Amino acid sequence: MEQKHLVICQSTSHMLRADAILRGHGFQTSLIPAPAEYGSVCSTAIQIDSSRAEEAKKLLKEAKIQLKGIYPYRPRKLSGLMERLKNNIIRDEYREVLVKIEEGEDLDLEEITLLLEPRGSSEEEALFHAADRMRREVVGEYVDLRGAVEFSNWCIKNCKYCGIRKGMKGLLRYRMTEDEIMEVVHQIHRLGIKTVILQSGEDPFYDTGKIVDLIKRIKRETGMLVTLSLGERTYEEYRAFREAGANNYLLKIETTNRDLFTFIHPDDDFDYRLQCIKWLRELGYINGSGNIIGLPGQTARDIAKDIAFFKEMGIHMIGIGPFLPAKGTPFEEYPGGSVDMTLRAVAVTRLVCKNVFIPATTALASIDPGAQAKALMVGANTIMLICTPHRYRENYQIYSNKNMVDLNAALQSIRLANRKPRKGIRIMQADK
Ligand code: SAH
Ligand code: SF4
Repeated sequence: MEQKHLVICQSTSHMLRADAILRGHGFQTSLIPAPAEYGSVCSTAIQIDSSRAEEAKKLLKEAKIQLKGIYPYRPRKLSGLMERLKNNIIRDEYREVLVKIEEGEDLDLEEITLLLEPRGSSEEEALFHAADRMRREVVGEYVDLRGAVEFSNWCIKNCKYCGIRKGMKGLLRYRMTEDEIMEVVHQIHRLGIKTVILQSGEDPFYDTGKIVDLIKRIKRETGMLVTLSLGERTYEEYRAFREAGANNYLLKIETTNRDLFTFIHPDDDFDYRLQCIKWLRELGYINGSGNIIGLPGQTARDIAKDIAFFKEMGIHMIGIGPFLPAKGTPFEEYPGGSVDMTLRAVAVTRLVCKNVFIPATTALASIDPGAQAKALMVGANTIMLICTPHRYRENYQIYSNKNMVDLNAALQSIRLANRKPRKGIRIMQADK
C-alpha cells in the first residue's frame, strides 16, 4: 500500500477549502477522522499520498489555509495488547488473530469471521478491550454529535424490513417544507453541533433543484457540514448535491450477500447500489455505509464480508444497527438482531477499518437504551440525535419502538462510557 500523509487544519471550514483545493489539483483525497494525537481542532483529516505531501503543503500555504500540519500516517499497532490480556482464557486460534492486531497486520476473511465469534466472556472481553484501545488511539476521547432531520416519510421503495415502505398501510405521510427544515437546522446549529443529517424515504418530490437549494441555504445561513441520506439517486444528482456543498452521504449496503440483498430489496439492484457507493467515493463525499445485523439467514461470515467490504471501499462512516422488526412489514414476525452480535460487529469494524467514524446507532438504543454507551465502549465514536419535529417523528418509524435519542440521552451515554462530547456543544441548552 502506498504511504499516506494526513493534512490537519485549524478548523472545519479550512479543512473543506483545503480538500477542494487539493482535489482541484488532481489529488486523490480521503476524509477520515483526525487521529487523537492532533487534538480536537477539527475532527476530520485529509488523507493524501505521501509522494505529494510537499506539493500539498506549498499549495495550501499559498492559499492561506490555516494548517496545523501535514504528518505521516502510521499503521496502528497495539503494543502491549497481549501482555494486558495474559490472564484472559483465549483459544490459540483467537489469540493468533489478536497478535496480528497487536502487530498492526491486516486480517483475512477467516480471521475476521473468527473474531466475530468469541467463545466465552473472556474472549469477548479481549475483543472489546482491543477495540476500545484502537478507538482511543485512532480517534481519541471525543464523541461527535450529529443532528438528524427526517424530513419526509414518503418512499417509492418496498424494502421488506422498513416501516415506512411504500406498501405500508395506515401510515400518515408527511413532507416538511424548506422553512420547516431550516427551523430545525438552526436549532441544531444553536446547540453547537457541526453536522446536520438530512434523511428521508426515497422521495422524488424533493428533486435535484429542491435539495440543491436546501443545501445552499444551510451552508449560507449556518456553514454546517451537510450529510445526506436520501437513498439511491443518479450520478448527476450526487454530483449536483456535492457541488452545492453536501459533505457526507449515507447509503448503506445493508448486506454484501447478493442473494440476501435481493431477497430483502424487491426493487433494488445490488450492482446499482454498489455503483452508487463508488460514485459517492469518486465525488469526494465522506462516504457513509453500513449494514443491518440479524437479517433472516445472515451468517457471521456474511457480516465479516461486510466489514471487509467497508475496508476495501474506503468507507469513512460505518453505521451498524441490529435488525428491528417493524409492525405491518413482511418481516414483522422475524426475530430482531442481537445486541451482542451488533456490539461485536462494531468492535471488529473498529479493529479492521481503524480510522473511521462509527456511530452508536439509534437502532441499538431502541433495543436497549444502555446499548449506546456499550457501543461507545467497544469502538463507536459518534451519536446521531433525532431532531425531527415532534408532530412528524412518530410517523418516521422505520422500525417499531424507535428510540428518539435526544441531546440529554446522548450526553448520558457519553458520560456512562466515560467519554466527552466534542468541544463546542452547548450543554446548557440541552433542554430547550
Ligand atoms: N431511504 C434511505 C434512508 C432512510 S432508511 C435509505 O434507504 O437509504 C435508513 C436506514 O434505516 C436504512 O439504511 C436501514 O439500514 C435502516 N432500517 C430501515 N428499516 C430498518 C429495520 N427494520 N431495522 C433496522 N434498520 C432499519
Ligand atoms: Fe424507503 Fe429507505 Fe425504507 Fe427502503 S429503507 S423502504 S428506501 S426509507
